[in-house]
This record gives sequence, C-alpha cells and structure tokens, in this order.
Amino acid sequence: MESSQNILIAGAGLVGSLAAIALKRRGHHVTLVEARSDMRAQSSAAGRSINLVLTIKGIEPLKRIGLLEDVLKITTPVYGRMMHSQNGELTYQPYGKDDSERNYSVSRRDLNILLMNKAEELGIEIVFESPLDQIDFQNKKVQFSKGEQLEYDILLGCDGAGSKTRKALQAEVNGIDQTVPLGSSYKELLMPAKDNGDYPLDEKALHIWPRGNHFLMALPNQEGSFTMTVYMPDEWMEKLSDEQAVKSYFEEYYPDVVDLMPDYAQEFCENPQGFLGSLDTLPWIYQDSVALLGDAAHAICPFFGQGMNCGFSDVQFLLTSLDQYQDDWEQIFSEYQKHQKPHGDAIRDMSLENFKEMSDSVGDEEFLRRKKIERVLENAFPTLYRSRYAQVVYTLTPYDQAFKNGQINAKILDRICHKYQNPEEVDLNIAKSIIEEEYVKSQRE
Ligand code: FAD
Repeated sequence: MESSQNILIAGAGLVGSLAAIALKRRGHHVTLVEARSDMRAQSSAAGRSINLVLTIKGIEPLKRIGLLEDVLKITTPVYGRMMHSQNGELTYQPYGKDDSERNYSVSRRDLNILLMNKAEELGIEIVFESPLDQIDFQNKKVQFSKGEQLEYDILLGCDGAGSKTRKALQAEVNGIDQTVPLGSSYKELLMPAKDNGDYPLDEKALHIWPRGNHFLMALPNQEGSFTMTVYMPDEWMEKLSDEQAVKSYFEEYYPDVVDLMPDYAQEFCENPQGFLGSLDTLPWIYQDSVALLGDAAHAICPFFGQGMNCGFSDVQFLLTSLDQYQDDWEQIFSEYQKHQKPHGDAIRDMSLENFKEMSDSVGDEEFLRRKKIERVLENAFPTLYRSRYAQVVYTLTPYDQAFKNGQINAKILDRICHKYQNPEEVDLNIAKSIIEEEYVKSQRE
C-alpha cells in the first residue's frame, strides 16, 4: 500500500466523485472542491437532465471500486437501437450478439448524486461553491475565486471541459489546448410517461430519428418517461427562436412524436443550448503532482456515448498504476498520460465518425445491409470477429486498438459485402478466410 497523500480533487462531477471514492478507499486524505452549489438541494434542473449510456469501460471501474450494484439499481437497460423513418417506419438493430450485451441508461444527475453520497459516507468533505481559480505548481497550492488557498500533494483536475486546472497547466507549460467546435449543438426535451405510467415508446431501445445532418434521440428513464435530445446545426438552432418555428420543424421531421411530447415547443425555447466540441490537449500531467482526468483531459462529442465511460477508465488506469508503482507518482502519471491520451484521441475521432452514422447512415439501406452481414460474422466467429461497436462498448479493448481493428473490419466487410448481397448467402468458410487474411495482412503492415 502506498503512503497516504493529501489529494485535492477539483470538480465533484462524475469523474471527480468516483476518483475521490477510489483514492479514499486506498487510505489517502481526499478533499473535493466543487464550483457549483450542492445539486442535492435543488430540484432537477429543466433541460439539464442528460441521460448517459453506461457501458463496459465505465462498468469495470465501478465494479472494482465496489459501486456497481448500487449504480445498476438506478439504470434502465437498453438492448438495441430503434430507427424511426420520416414516414413512421421502425427498424430495430440489436446492439450485441445477444441480450447479455446491453447498455444502461442512467440520469447524469442521479448518478452524480449517488457518487457524492457515497463519497460523503466515506468521510470525504465536498466543499461546494468553491471554484478553483489559480495554481501555484511549484509550491503545490491552489487559490479559489474568493481568495482562500489550499495546499496539496496531488491535485486531480476533474473540472470538466472548461477546466481551470487545464488552463492553469497550459499557462505553466505552454502545450497544446485546442477545442474544435462541431458546429452543431443540442437541446434536451421530455417525453413524459403515459397517464397510466407506461412508457410511450419501447423502453428496451435507444430511439433515433436520423434526418441527414440533424437527428432526435430518446433514452428511457426509470419512471416511464424518455429524455429526448435533438441535435442540429447551430444556425438552425438560431432560426428556431419561437414556438411556432419549433412546431413547424418538429411537425415536418418528427411527426410521430409531437403528440407524445405536449410541452416540447415551450421546452425547446426555454432550455439551454448545449455546446458540442472535441478537445485536444497535452500535457495532461505536471511532474508528480497534477493530472487531468475526464472531460478536463478529453472532452468529446457524445455520439458514441463514451465520455463518462472514458473518464471512469482514467480512474481505473490510475488504480492499476498505483498497484504497480506504489508511491512513484511521477511514474504513475507518466504511464497514465502515455496510455490514456491515445485512448482518448481514438474515442474522440470515433465519436465524430458516429455523428455521421447516427444522423444519417442508420437510416440507410446499404448501412443496414452491412450491419446484418457483420452480425452474421460476429455470431459465426465470436472469437475471431467483433464489430468495432462491440469492441468499444462490450470489451475492455482500449479505444485506440478498437479504432485500428475497426479499420481492418471495414476492409473485411467491403470484401464480403461485395461478394454477397444478402446475409443468408454468406459462405462462412470463405468469410473466415477473408477475416484471417485481413488480420494477418494488418500485422505485416
Ligand atoms: P463534468 O461532468 O463536466 O464535471 C465537472 C465538474 O467540475 C462539474 O461539477 C463542475 O461544476 C466542476 N467544476 C468546473 N469548474 C470548476 C472549478 N474551477 N473548480 C471546481 N469545480 C469546477 N458520456 C457517456 O459515457 N455516455 C453517454 O451516453 C453520454 N452522453 C452524453 C450526452 C450529452 C448530450 C453530453 C453533453 C454528454 C454526454 N456524455 C456521455 C459525456 C459525459 O456527460 C461527460 O463525459 C461526463 O459528464 C464527464 O464527467 P467529468 O466529471 O469529467 O466532467
């Protein structure tokens, strides 16, 4: 066991709260400082009830830290995606090879509250309304907006996409810090439960209404409602400035949901517009004393549903490195950056690719044909072939490896889909040799 450190964590969001619990359990003295007031004292903020999909790279750290059982109790399992065409046709695509491979929909707020409660149960002090402002890296001291100061041995910047820790680090070392806006943004809306409490849509699926460069998405909540997220180019958002314009837009593109969302036009006008962008920053660490975790290091667009999962995997990686290197924090942080930065870059790039898939391709016949053929391969050769999606979501394969394997898979699918039109026609012996050939070829490259 490493010797106890005075660990200061900036940001009591999902990643900061999880990191605090993990490190406290290892015997460190942990303080969590949070810019906002305590969300537990406020009722749920309208339009900020983001639902997240929890998958294996987030599940494993929760399991390791002993929180998985409690977290699963506040989730709703989803087994596949249901596409809604403009004329109301439905197409269902299962996520995994069977129902054991599923994703878990969870309210960000409920999960954050659960993690903060667990942190406090362990005796961790959460200091609210204390935005970290400046860092004295040499003397290991932070200063808050109101002027007070705190010393640390280790500072973890878990303060989200707009991280002050990152900005202070950049001011100290002058590295890379670039956020590329997507040019599209999102709004959250609510589809309430039916009067009898039932779900208005199939609750076992994530629903998507792909419409080209814009789309609507729905994830189930536990009490019968769905959280809806509408994504569209920024300039469209600006044009939808009154309820009438919003109604015309929804009636044109999403006619099958308007009756299920009685307040959508008002909510759209009142709810905040969420920014979407991808961060590239380096370094993530400062010597043996400071590291960035979660969105502070790798804020990404949400189209693979992996931002939090990736942030939780940061915590998992730190724990594994602590086992390996004990008190050598310089080595721990150096390994952390070496491993997690390419992992974060890869999920950032795959998330951008998925934007195209979710807004457009999921409704495309050729895309669906490829997916069906891919499913034949996955079922026939479970140890030889896994889709990129499954590698990201159902395996612990690092994102950068999944990205590379996905490029090989694309070549395999190109060849097989060119040869066979329908999934039933695929000759499995030939398919197997194509898979083996492409993977062997990639090892030579
Ligand atoms: P945050 O959740 O942003 O928390 C940072 C905390 O730091 C906040 O509490 C903030 O108040 C605090 N803070 C900020 N500045 C300071 C300061 N100066 N001092 C002290 N505290 C400070 N991820 C998934 O894995 N699956 C999904 O399905 C998914 N869907 C998403 C859908 C949308 C629409 C969006 C926008 C994101 C989605 N994400 C998803 C991403 C996920 O929400 C983030 O990756 C995750 O919340 C990051 O957690 P974090 O703790 O790093 O940062």
